[in-house]
Amino acid sequence: MADIPQVKIAVLGGSTTIGANFPRAYEGVNIIADGLVFDTPFGQTAPFTHAEVDGKEFLYADFHGINQQVRNTEPNSSGERIFYVLWKAGVRKVIGTALCGSTNRLLDPADVVIPDDFVDFTTKRPQMLMVNLQNLGHDVPRYSYRLYQPTCPTLSDSLVESCQGVGFPRVFKRGIVGVAEGPRLESPSEIRLRYQNLGIDIVTMNFVPEVFFARELGMCYAAVELVSNYGEGLIDHRWEGNTAFRDFQKKWSAPTSEAILGSLRVMDPDDDSCGCSAYRWESILL
Ligand SMILES: [Zn+2]
Repeated sequence: MADIPQVKIAVLGGSTTIGANFPRAYEGVNIIADGLVFDTPFGQTAPFTHAEVDGKEFLYADFHGINQQVRNTEPNSSGERIFYVLWKAGVRKVIGTALCGSTNRLLDPADVVIPDDFVDFTTKRPQMLMVNLQNLGHDVPRYSYRLYQPTCPTLSDSLVESCQGVGFPRVFKRGIVGVAEGPRLESPSEIRLRYQNLGIDIVTMNFVPEVFFARELGMCYAAVELVSNYGEGLIDHRWEGNTAFRDFQKKWSAPTSEAILGSLRVMDPDDDSCGCSAYRWESILL
């Protein structure tokens, strides 16, 4: 089993980057180690890649660390395993990404949203990494946290800029994500009543627990959400390229990967001026 390296940046790939051979297929990327499986109190992780671009080292895990052996629901979820590794690695900045459906009628497929807020509709996802470790008998610090400024403005700004340079038709620098439990998609009435009527812009299945765990651990988090389809019942029921998870994904995975690498290139992993890490504190309750 691999030792966890000390790395300050992490990229959590999603349905946007599957099959893109991220990060090894991209110019300027140096692979330091590949296929790294780590032991955690929650079980073994999916394989990580340890890589570097323009002097910025990062850890990468495909598809939120989910595979046939590791699910994204409690107990022992992919999120718990992944963020245990990021915590031990000393990660300070986390970028996530996923495809999403639109619930705002102004959005079209291939538009990118860099969200600035979210509403969590999941039911089976972990909420507090340290409490879960405590429940497994580990003596760990415990934190409470606020979700003011849930995504990092500095990381988000750099993602907006890098996404604007790789060919997406439109890039939105704010938006509210509705997070669905899945894995099924939504009905037309769910899209209308649960998301659209509440002012939610996009619906996805990632973002939780990443946004919770990053905040709990004092890390900055931001995400690239790529609209792959109209929410059910909105605009048009046909999906571009027949299925969003094949032709569409194949078309846009490389630009998404380039945008994420562009953001890494300009990132200062020691810059705390955004203030994200100030919104948690040692708990007196947990
Ligand atoms: Zn931040």
